[in-house]
Amino acid sequence: MGHFYIFHGGSPRDRRDFALRLAMILNCQGLEKPCHVCPSCRKIQSGNHPDVSILEPLKASLGIEQVLNWQETVYRKHYEGEYKVFLVEQADALTAAAANALLKIVEEPPGETVIILSAQNAEKLLATVRSRAQLLYFAEGGEAGEEGEGRPEWTGALRLSGGSYALAEQMMHHGPETIADWVGRFRRAVGARDFVGLFSLFPVESEEASLYLQALAVQFEQEMIQGKSAVSALLAVRDALSALQQANSRLVIEVLALRLFEQGGYGA
Ligand SMILES: [Zn+2]
Repeated sequence: MGHFYIFHGGSPRDRRDFALRLAMILNCQGLEKPCHVCPSCRKIQSGNHPDVSILEPLKASLGIEQVLNWQETVYRKHYEGEYKVFLVEQADALTAAAANALLKIVEEPPGETVIILSAQNAEKLLATVRSRAQLLYFAEGGEAGEEGEGRPEWTGALRLSGGSYALAEQMMHHGPETIADWVGRFRRAVGARDFVGLFSLFPVESEEASLYLQALAVQFEQEMIQGKSAVSALLAVRDALSALQQANSRLVIEVLALRLFEQGGYGA
């Protein structure tokens, strides 16, 4: 579990719901997490859990005084939860000074703490903040591609990229159908725990592997938001994406498949 995230895209409501869901999963005392009925889940749902807090800008911008006040709460000991979860709403309103103060907190995180910045547009955050966080993109509600170029291919690329235009453009060069097909075959092999079935997916160059895995990450993110797949599946894909930079793509994909097998498969 990482301790610093940026949730961006989608709606503020989607991002907040998912942050609270994550807080419930981390603190739930039930067997199937989140159970929605244990004292911890209930307190989080009603906004009364002492270890789960939401910071919202008091003015048009989120200034340094507010971050410094908030810092005290971050370092305060846990009241009762396993994890403290802090959600910073409208993080694109952080002033540069406030963002730098926040970075100090993130650099020396107290244990078992998760800090989530919620922003419509992650591009508006300082690059130094973005580079330290794990980014999680929320797709826009409804059909993507409203202002697309009217081509079904572009709509497909936008869907695969989770609404990211930059990624959709790269996917257009490679062919959205090829990507969707590869991801579908990978998920079927994983779902069937069919290691041999993976062989037909190679050879894969590292650049295309990166597009395939990014498309897979988008699917897991969306399923996670809908409660259909676990955070661990997404984290496995993210690890694979970073491993791609040094290791052979075939090896990376096989290791990823094995991790997903162990988690019970996340097939189509
Ligand atoms: Zn619970």
